[in-house]
Amino acid sequence: MNDTSTVLTQPDTPNMQWIDLRSDTVTQPTPAMRAAMASAEVGDDVYGDDATVIQLEQLAADMLGKEAALFVPTGVFGNQLAVFTHCRRGDEVIAGDDSHLVWHENGAAAVISGVQMRTIASDRGVVPPKEIEARIRVGEDIHIPRTGLICLENAHGNGRVIPLATMAETAAIARRHNIPIHLDGARVFNAATHLNCDVKEITRHVDTVMCCLSKGLAAPVGSILAGPADFIKRARYNRKLLGGGWRQAGVLAAPGILALTEMTKRLGEDHANARYLAERLAAIPGITVDSDDVHINMVWFALPESVDSDQLTAALAAEGIRANGPYGGKMRLVTHWQVDRNTIDRTVAVIQNATT
Ligand SMILES: *Cc1c(COP(=O)(O)O)cnc(C)c1O
Repeated sequence: MNDTSTVLTQPDTPNMQWIDLRSDTVTQPTPAMRAAMASAEVGDDVYGDDATVIQLEQLAADMLGKEAALFVPTGVFGNQLAVFTHCRRGDEVIAGDDSHLVWHENGAAAVISGVQMRTIASDRGVVPPKEIEARIRVGEDIHIPRTGLICLENAHGNGRVIPLATMAETAAIARRHNIPIHLDGARVFNAATHLNCDVKEITRHVDTVMCCLSKGLAAPVGSILAGPADFIKRARYNRKLLGGGWRQAGVLAAPGILALTEMTKRLGEDHANARYLAERLAAIPGITVDSDDVHINMVWFALPESVDSDQLTAALAAEGIRANGPYGGKMRLVTHWQVDRNTIDRTVAVIQNATT
């Protein structure tokens, strides 16, 4: 590969081309993205002067089927801004107990919005609508908090896609009780690709949605929060309050536009590569692959007890392949635009070697 922008190097091994299977957050911007960044029209976005940011926000709103959208620095920022804008202090937020909001956001909902999380045991990412309904606060009892928000996650961070029927059922319950739904859609375009539907078929069931441009869509930075125009107007005010009002952000919005227009179209390749990886791993005696969970670009598997996972990650690193150690007893490998079949074959060869 001649294009140096796609090559990952490490100071002690300057010529080594790393292959990184730790996550899709590691994706480097594409050459087209770097070119778009260099020539992006910019202005002061706090003044509303950045034409590229405006273009990204309109495109995102359009694609996600919402009235308006806001460009924010990260997925956590987008989720927390949604909670902050939807809720009052002391409100309850209903969410799955294994959701990103509960597990991976530093307790931010308590710190920033002063809300309490009302969690529900999820079935591998699916939060049963009946359980949500059972936790909605009703009545005027002066002791009880108000239910301010329901949060869903699709695709779930574990790589599973939540069925549309479950989302529709939850939406009907939320409407009945007049409670908004926010979707953590960090990988909502992966979910749409898996379901073979337009992303709007997913987002129509929620009031607001956050989606990440910086994961499998390969933008260097940024997420989108989309929803009704009056909500986004308040979110824009709150984004400034939280220190997220940015200036010539068009250089970051330009690759975000390509993330939406170009990179959303090719996620199926990553999913097919993940399935290929899962099949090859499953053929290695002693390895148990969670084959039913390979919906998007993630493969989870357990190693035989005889394998030392530190030795395995070291063996992979010696081949220039970065992988995280096990999490909850399982390894996770993630495919993305910089991972091809040849890479997967090399990875499988190292793992096979380590297990025999
Ligand atoms: C990555 C992720 C986020 C947060 O995105 P950051 O940009 O890392 O802050 C939120 N929710 C889910 C499900 C994610 O996978």
